This record gives sequence, C-alpha cells and structure tokens, in this order.
Amino acid sequence: MPLFDLPAVPDIPVAGETEGYPVRRIFCVGRNYAAHAAEMGDEAPAVPFYFTKAPAHLILSGATVPYPSGTGDYHHEIELVVALGAPLFKATPDQTMAAVYGYATGLDMTRRDLQAVAKDGGLPWDIAKDVENAAVVGPMTRAADFGPLAAQRISLSVDGRTRQASTIDKMVHPVPKLLAHLSGFYHLQPGDLIFTGTPEGIGAVTAGATLRGEVEGLAPVELTLTEAE
Ligand code: MN
Repeated sequence: MPLFDLPAVPDIPVAGETEGYPVRRIFCVGRNYAAHAAEMGDEAPAVPFYFTKAPAHLILSGATVPYPSGTGDYHHEIELVVALGAPLFKATPDQTMAAVYGYATGLDMTRRDLQAVAKDGGLPWDIAKDVENAAVVGPMTRAADFGPLAAQRISLSVDGRTRQASTIDKMVHPVPKLLAHLSGFYHLQPGDLIFTGTPEGIGAVTAGATLRGEVEGLAPVELTLTEAE
C-alpha cells in the first residue's frame, strides 16, 4: 500500500473498446511543420527534437479548466497524437508502424511567453510546456480503423473561428521517421504517446475560450478555459 493515494491519470477512451488506453509517457516533437517553424522565426530542425509532459498533466477532451497561472500568452497547438501498442527500441522506420496502436487529436497547450524567455536564455522549456492540464487528448481511434497516414486535414478553431488549418503530410519528419529516431533514445512501450508537432497558426487564447481541434478521421478534441485561479 502506498503512503497516500495519487490522482489517477485518465485512460483515453478508444472507439469500439470498452476499456481505455492507459498513458505511461508523453513525448512531444518540436517544430515539425515548416510553416510553423517559420512563424516561430526558426528553421525546421534537420534532426527531430523532443520535450516531454508529465502524464499527470493529461486531461481528456471536453474538460473545462482554469487559465493557467504565470502566463499572459497561453497558446494552442493542434497535433496528431500517436499511441504505441508494442515496444520499439532502435527500430528502423519500416518497423515502426506495426507498433502503433492508434491515433488521437491532441492539444499541446503552451505558455508561449515563458517559452520565449527560456529560448532567449538557453534554458529548459519545462514551465512553458509541462503545464498542468496542458496535454489534452481526444478519444482514440485504432490504427486499423484509421487507415494509412496520408494528407488528412488538421485544424483548430477558437470560439468557432478557424486558427490553424493544414494537412498531416506536411510534417517535416513523418511518423515512421520520428518513432525510429525516438526509439534510439528510449525503450518505447505501450502507453507512450507522441505529440507529432503543430502546423502554423498558433495563437493566444483567453479565459472563456472554447477550443476545438480536429484531425480528419479522428474524434475532435475540445477544451474550455475559465478564469484564472
Ligand atoms: Mn507542440
């Protein structure tokens, strides 16, 4: 028995399954669409790079949470989320897709002002990215039900107005390459999620906003922000 109980990390509902997908780790890919790298004033990286979010910061689609503390520039990033269902270690790209359990639509919410400070100072991004309630995931679709990754549309609206719109074939480093690369550094396991980066059109949201993100063929992800605590 533990000394005290921790809040449970929510399992992600899966279409057609009664049991949910349990989450172990959350990896996120940076600047994986060229037009987003450009709007950040950066180049798309020749080699993928990553940051992580604590599973404790995961919330499910439909949540209503407070605008976070410590920021005046809280940004949306709509992303395709890849969920693993089998181990991967030192895999080649053509070995990776058989390990994908499914896909979901996700929001990588970001304290952009604090990320800018961190980038300017050469400091870690944790308080910009690993934010409470800042990994939002919609219901999952099994890979076999989704079909091949192609040019599915990815989009995000705030209060009904479109902010981000692209297609997932515009990823600089496509999913098999990302998974192969990441598997060179981690023993990837079932329960590991990979947020695969956001297209252009990122921007700030305010208290009261309702966000809706979509990836064609997947259930949407929704988030509502209330006043800061
Ligand atoms: Mn992101």
